[in-house]
This record gives sequence, C-alpha cells and structure tokens, in this order.
Amino acid sequence: MEDKMKQEQLVGRLPLTNSGELQTFFFGVGSASAIKHFQNNFVIIKGNQHISVDLGNKSQLALEHIAGLKMTDIEFFLPTHSHADHVGGIETFALDSRYVGIPRLGKEKPSVIITEEYQRILWDDTLRGGICFNEREEENKRNLCFGDYFNVIRPIWKQKQPREIWELDLGGIHLEIFRTKHVPDSAETWETSFVSYGLFVDGHVFISCDTRFDIDLINMYASRSSVMFHDVQFFNGGVHASLDELRTLPAEIKAKMYLMHYGDNWETQDITGFAGLAQQGVIYTP
Ligand SMILES: [Zn+2]
Repeated sequence: MEDKMKQEQLVGRLPLTNSGELQTFFFGVGSASAIKHFQNNFVIIKGNQHISVDLGNKSQLALEHIAGLKMTDIEFFLPTHSHADHVGGIETFALDSRYVGIPRLGKEKPSVIITEEYQRILWDDTLRGGICFNEREEENKRNLCFGDYFNVIRPIWKQKQPREIWELDLGGIHLEIFRTKHVPDSAETWETSFVSYGLFVDGHVFISCDTRFDIDLINMYASRSSVMFHDVQFFNGGVHASLDELRTLPAEIKAKMYLMHYGDNWETQDITGFAGLAQQGVIYTP
C-alpha cells in the first residue's frame, strides 16, 4: 500500500485539538529500559477530542520536553497495561488533577477509558498504595477510590470476535481495544497472558502497544490498516515482538509498519522493508 502518511515535526506546544483529521503523536518511543527516547506513550487527536494513551514514570518530563504539556492538560486517558513505562506516571497524573487541576485551574476530573477488570488491577496492584489517602483535611473522607480521581468511561464488549475486544466511540474517535499477548514470555495465547491491551483506531490505524509477536493479531487487522505501529525489540525471546520475527511478515504489511518501543541501539539495526522507526515529537496524520 502506498504510504500517504503525513509526518510533521512539532514546533512549540502540541495542540490537543485539530480541524478533524485523526492524528497520532508519540511523547516517547523508547523501550522500558531505554535512556534516549522516553517511553512509548502517545496521544490520539481528532477534532475537539484527544485520548492520551499510557503515562510511564518518565511521562511528566516527556510531556514537558516533547510536547510542552502538563499532566493537567490531559482530559481523556487510556492505560494499556501495568508496566512502569506505561502506568508509572498515573499517580502524579491523579494527584496533579485532584489537587492542582481541579481546584486551581478549574479543570474537570479527567476521564479514564478502562474495563472493569483492568480498573481493579490498576487500582489494587499499582495505584492504591500511593493515592488511597485523602490529602485534604476538610473533606470528611479518609480513603479515596479510583472514582474520586477519575470519571470512568467503560468500553463496550464486542461480541463474536476471535479474541477479547472492547469498543468505544468518543467525540468522533472510534476505538477497538483488543487484548494482547505480552507477559509472561511463556504464555501460549492472549487468554493466558496477563491483561494488556492494544488499539485499532477509526478502522484503519493499528497500534499494538505492548505484545509479543502474534501473527493472529496482525492478520486480524493488517488488511484494514492504513498504518500499523508495532512494538519491537532488537533481540529474540522476551515479551515484545522481535525484529527477526517482524521481518517474516509479508512485504506489504512491513511497508506500512512503523516500529516503536525500541532500544537505544536502534542505529545499528537493519529495518529495510519497514515504513520506519516511529519518532517522538512527530505528528502522524495517516
Ligand atoms: Zn509492557
């Protein structure tokens, strides 16, 4: 397929609205242990709607340095899975919103797109220890819950699909949220993997988020995708798709696939045949 992707380096502050086209912007494209490229967190923008996806433990810096944004600028958020490079910044996001964004900046509570199952996991296993205590003395309420920090938006279960898929229409953006096969490295299927999600946006933009090589997943979406953003690692084994595995894909799929979530040794990799390495700080308009 011909690559018609418009790529534009951001200058200044990232506007979270546009004139109606679907845009994807990466605050970072680095792997969990990368030093050079922040973390694979991004935002989808269309018209007046934005959806920020994942906030890792470096996200506060990435937002500032790459996009000129603050945590309190984010109004709609979607977390994909419980690794620190994806959810390690949510505690700051929650606190900044509750104690700065709402009282001082007149913002609303941010909205979080999340399944019931993952909300329980995210709150109980990651967030509760840090933010379940109310910092405000005047409120006669000692313990807080997820709903005290965030409005919850539930995607809808899409039935009769080959795997677990959730759907949502939000402000003109259509999301399919599919389960991925990420952790552990021994899991045979997405069903036996720990909960992790990827995205298919507006019926043509595929973003794997974190997954091991999963040919069933790629085949489910490849023909409908105008562009595919896929995570990569430059070694075999582990919990991401390796470059060697992705190289086995047909040429027409590789030609529309941008590799993301990569290690600091990207310069020595041969990515011939792929659309390229996704770049942080670039506005992608497919
Ligand atoms: Zn991960």
